[in-house]
Amino acid sequence: MKIAIDGPAGAGKSTVAKKVADQLGYLYVDTGAMYRALTWKALQANVDISSGEALLRLLNQCNLELKVESGTLKVMLNNQDITAEIRTRDVTNLVSEVASHQQVREAMVQLQKEMAAKGNVVMDGRDIGTHVIPDAEVKIYLTASIEERARRRYEELLTKGHKASLREIKQEIRDRDRKDKNRETAPLKKAADAVTVDTTGLSIDEVVNRILKIVYQ
Ligand code: C5P
Repeated sequence: MKIAIDGPAGAGKSTVAKKVADQLGYLYVDTGAMYRALTWKALQANVDISSGEALLRLLNQCNLELKVESGTLKVMLNNQDITAEIRTRDVTNLVSEVASHQQVREAMVQLQKEMAAKGNVVMDGRDIGTHVIPDAEVKIYLTASIEERARRRYEELLTKGHKASLREIKQEIRDRDRKDKNRETAPLKKAADAVTVDTTGLSIDEVVNRILKIVYQ
């Protein structure tokens, strides 16, 4: 079975999708991590992120791997573990621009389709139910209020020792959502046949259980 989980930034997609995949014994693919990895590499290599062509050239030189090891997702680029690096604010605030280029999206979607073709999968992102696996048997649109999404992200950053105000975080999330919803290629949008799950006020396990219930229906 294929399960697509889409939604705006900070709705809890990665955490929830990985748990759902663990429970079902399915492959988990965090597509946001792929765009983040390319963004990180572009910053390292000083590649102009306004050029889709330059980014595609860079992507073609990269060996990108997603691995789940002892329950956590590891992101490897050319054999380097960049799991932590791709979650920094610098990467987070630039990733939407990188992901807006058609050349980049075509290449990423191709890789994602190949991963989905391997069998049972839970894949999360922005265009999974609409473009990557439109034939997914289960499609979830995960969302939460902007206040809750900002608070979660703020707390996550605090635990990592980063300092930022809640107001700044809220603005950054709003900006990213606006870019993801308004880009020309595959903008974030709920698939017509997706079920909306609002995670505001719900614990991670409650959200996971709701999704599993939908899967078993
Ligand atoms: O899910 P995450 O917040 O890690 O995604 C980071 C960014 O990658 C998103 O804000 C979006 O710009 C881009 N993205 C995308 N399509 C996907 C997954 C992520 O454009 N399928």
